[in-house]
Amino acid sequence: MKYISTRGGAKAATAAEAIKKGLCEDGGLYMPSEIPSLTLCEIKSLIDVSYPERAAFILGKFLTDYTEEELLADARSAYGREKFPEGATALAKLSDMTLLELFHGPTCAFKDMALQIMPRLFRRALIKTSEEKEALILVATSGDTGKAALEGYCDIENIKIQVFYPTDGVSRIQKLQMQTQVGKNVSVFGISGNFDDAQNGVKRIFSDDDMAQKLASEGVFLSSANSINWGRLVPQIVYYVSAYCDMVASGDISLGEVIDVTVPTGNFGNIFACYIAKMMGLPIGTLVCASNQNNVLTEFLESGVYSRNRPFYKTISPSMDILISSNLERLLYLTLGEDKCRIYMKALSDHGEYRLCKEDFEKIQSHFVGYCADETETAQTIKAVFEEEKYLTDTHTAVAVCAAKKYMCAGKVQRKMLTVSTASPYKFARDVLLSLGACVPGDGIEVLDELFAFSGVDIPAPLMALMNKEVRFSGIIAKEGMEDAVLAFAHK
Ligand SMILES: *Cc1c(COP(=O)(O)O)cnc(C)c1O
Repeated sequence: MKYISTRGGAKAATAAEAIKKGLCEDGGLYMPSEIPSLTLCEIKSLIDVSYPERAAFILGKFLTDYTEEELLADARSAYGREKFPEGATALAKLSDMTLLELFHGPTCAFKDMALQIMPRLFRRALIKTSEEKEALILVATSGDTGKAALEGYCDIENIKIQVFYPTDGVSRIQKLQMQTQVGKNVSVFGISGNFDDAQNGVKRIFSDDDMAQKLASEGVFLSSANSINWGRLVPQIVYYVSAYCDMVASGDISLGEVIDVTVPTGNFGNIFACYIAKMMGLPIGTLVCASNQNNVLTEFLESGVYSRNRPFYKTISPSMDILISSNLERLLYLTLGEDKCRIYMKALSDHGEYRLCKEDFEKIQSHFVGYCADETETAQTIKAVFEEEKYLTDTHTAVAVCAAKKYMCAGKVQRKMLTVSTASPYKFARDVLLSLGACVPGDGIEVLDELFAFSGVDIPAPLMALMNKEVRFSGIIAKEGMEDAVLAFAHK
C-alpha cells in the first residue's frame, strides 16, 4: 500500500515513511492510495478474537510494510491489561443508544487509543527507514493530547518528547497529569500565554531552518504527534470495527445490520476514522458529527460553506474547541478527489472559507449530518442522563448524546445508534459537577472526591494516583523561550 498526498504534489511513500514524516512536503496530508475492503465474513471472524488481534488485522490492511508479528506485538503491548486494566473499550447501554467508551486507558481520554500504539509504530518506522537521527516529538496541547502523547512516548527508544501547554489554559487535573509524568525522555513546560501562543511557537520551530540545522548537529530531527499524522488515525478505525463485533456478539444487532454512529468532533480525526471503516465495508449508515458551541462543522454540513471567520468560544468541552478541523481535508480528498480538494483548501487559506458546489455537497451529505449542543444543552444532557439513566457522561460525550438525540428526533430512518464516549467524567469533574447542580469547592484534586460522593461512580485509578505523585516539571517559560527549551532538551 502506497501513501499519497491529498494535494497530489508529493511523491508516494510507504506507511513507515508517512508515519515518520507526518505531513507531506506539498502541505497535504498522507492518505492510502486505496481503501482496503472488509467483508462481512472477515467481520464475523473478528467477533471471537481479542482487541489486540482485531487491531493487528485491521492495521495490517493499511500498514503493509509492517509484518503481522510486529503489529500483533505492538497491539498487545499497547492495549494489554497493564495499560487498559478493564479492557481496551467497553459498551454501555442507554435506553435509546449504545455508548462506545474509549476512556479506559492510562490518561482517561480516547486519545490513548491511538497514542498508546502510535509511538510503537513510529519507533519501527525509524528502523524501517534506516533513520540514524533521534526523533524529538514536539506537542502543543490544550490538555488531553499532551498527556496522552507523554504516556505513549515515555521511555520509547531513540525518541524524545517535549510538551508545551498554556499555563492558565488547562484544568488543575490536566496540569498535574503532565507535571507528574515519569520517564527519562520527557520534558514538559507551561507557557505564559494561551493555547495559540503554544501552538504558534511549535509551528514556528517546525518551520525554522536554522533550528532544524542546529538540531541536526545534535543528531535530532523534529516530528509531531497530532492527528494529521496517519499513524494517529489508523488505530482509530479499529475500535469502530471492534464495537460492531461486540454489538453482534451481545445480540444487540445482527451481522450485516446497518447502524448509525455519532462522534463528538473537534479536529475531525475520530469521525473520519469511522468514515474509513464505513468505506471499507463496515455496515454504517449515517455519521452524525456532533459539535459544541464552536459549530463550524454543523454549519458546514447544513450549508456546504466552511468558514473559519467566526468567533472562538471557550466551552466546557475544550477538546472540541476548534475552528479549523484539519482532517476535513482528508474527507474532501476521499469523496471529491484531489483536484477539488486542492481548490477548496486554497480558498480556505486565501479567504478563510470555501463553498462546496451542489454536486460535491450532496456527496458529503449522503454520509454525514451535523448537530450541535450549546453550553446549556450540554449541561442539561449530563444532568438528564444521570438522573434518568444513572449514567455519568463527561462534557464531550454529553455533546454527542445531545446531538444523537436531536438526530433521532428529526430522523426518518430507525437504526440502532452507537455514540462515542471520549473521556471519563472525572477528567472534567468540575464542569460535570456544576452541570449536575452540585456546589463545587475549588478546581483542585478535591473535585474528584466530590464527584464520587455525588455520583457513586468509581474514580479511575490513574486519576486517583495523581494525589501521591511527585511534581517533576513545574517550569513556566515565556513563549519566546520555547526555542531555547527545545535546544536544551535536544542537547541532553
Ligand atoms: C480530542 C478529543 C475530541 C475530538 O476528537 P477529534 O478527533 O479531534 O475530532 C473529543 N473528545 C475528547 C475528550 C477529546 O480529547
